[in-house]
Amino acid sequence: MRDADFFRRWMVATTAAVERESDRLTELDSPIGDADHGSNLLRGFTAVRAALNKDTPATPGGVLLLAGRTLISTVGGASGPLYGTLLRRAGKDLGDAAEVSDEDLRQALDAAVGAVASLGGAAPGDKTMLDALLPGIAALGTSYRAAADAADGGALATVPMQAHKGRASYLGERSIGHQDPGATSSALLLGALADVADGVL
Ligand code: ADP
Ligand code: MG
Repeated sequence: MRDADFFRRWMVATTAAVERESDRLTELDSPIGDADHGSNLLRGFTAVRAALNKDTPATPGGVLLLAGRTLISTVGGASGPLYGTLLRRAGKDLGDAAEVSDEDLRQALDAAVGAVASLGGAAPGDKTMLDALLPGIAALGTSYRAAADAADGGALATVPMQAHKGRASYLGERSIGHQDPGATSSALLLGALADVADGVL
């Protein structure tokens, strides 16, 4: 079973990964975006870590709700409301249980990625964060590491795609040949989950 501290460590590990990779995320957002994805997520997750240090929610659901709310209020770009919705919806699904099972988390993330798809209107293959989140969350039934690896593969698979949603879609065919920044950060989120679950962090 996973308690609030596990979820807090997941968010802190994600913040550390975003700190490490922020320049790269911004570089990926240069040719097909407006070069702010790294700084957007750095601002958002730094605020998430600060909020969790201040508030210390007692439940897994409480941690994810606070993280999601914080991302929505601090990130101006498209990714803020999308990641905020992912975490808030998952947090809502987990309710006020003090501990949740891996299967509870899998189901909550499955519902949450559906909420991201309805909010953003993107489909698989549109070259968005969904192209990493969907295969990643589908592999959660196998293991957290399998989910992280599938999300990494999903992010790489966005390179030959043409973007049909978000800023990158304005470029039409010129969006082809670049890795999507949001898919890349989604792989970081699931990588951090695997590190925390495996006890690496
Ligand atoms: P902005 O595009 O507003 O500058 P960011 O640079 O922070 O915001 O985030 C860009 C990322 O957001 C994209 O790489 C893509 O993965 C994701 N994204 C953008 N629009 C959508 C959408 N409609 N559905 C899903 N993901 C999206
Ligand atoms: Mg951007």
